[in-house]
Amino acid sequence: MPSPVGHALGGVTAGWTLAPSRSVKTVGWLAAVGAAADLDLVIGAHRGPTHSIGAAALTFLLVWMWTRNLRWALAAAAAWGSHVLLDWLGTDTSAPVGEMALWPYSRGYFESRLHLFPAISRRYWLPEFWVANLKALAIELVILGPMTWAVIRTSGLRKTSRPGGRRA
Ligand SMILES: [Zn+2]
Repeated sequence: MPSPVGHALGGVTAGWTLAPSRSVKTVGWLAAVGAAADLDLVIGAHRGPTHSIGAAALTFLLVWMWTRNLRWALAAAAAWGSHVLLDWLGTDTSAPVGEMALWPYSRGYFESRLHLFPAISRRYWLPEFWVANLKALAIELVILGPMTWAVIRTSGLRKTSRPGGRRA
């Protein structure tokens, strides 16, 4: 499963064209939403309901209630959904393998067979920690970096924005 860097790139790539404004703040906002699902590590329920299409739908509702702006809500839901997609495409090495991608419809854990992204180790005491994670990060940057760059490049980066602001 990708690192926070990979998820940040995924969030920006997925939400950028949907966002009503495109600025450096928007990049930060979408990156944060793209990586936010892994905050479930704090409560010890990693890859559960936070890693699902249901959570992406809840993100849509919460952001829509906050901003009353459909485009911000769609951008946030896409950024959150990118996390679910990237983890599904990744490699999980701890049971239960995968993520609860279809919650609340299903509480099963799902992972693709592609294993596009290597597993990220949180076992910092192991000797291979740095090498394995740097290699995984490099793969994420090679795959996701050009996509993020292309999306921002083609849609433009403007200075005017207020992520979360009430704009029509
Ligand atoms: Zn995750």
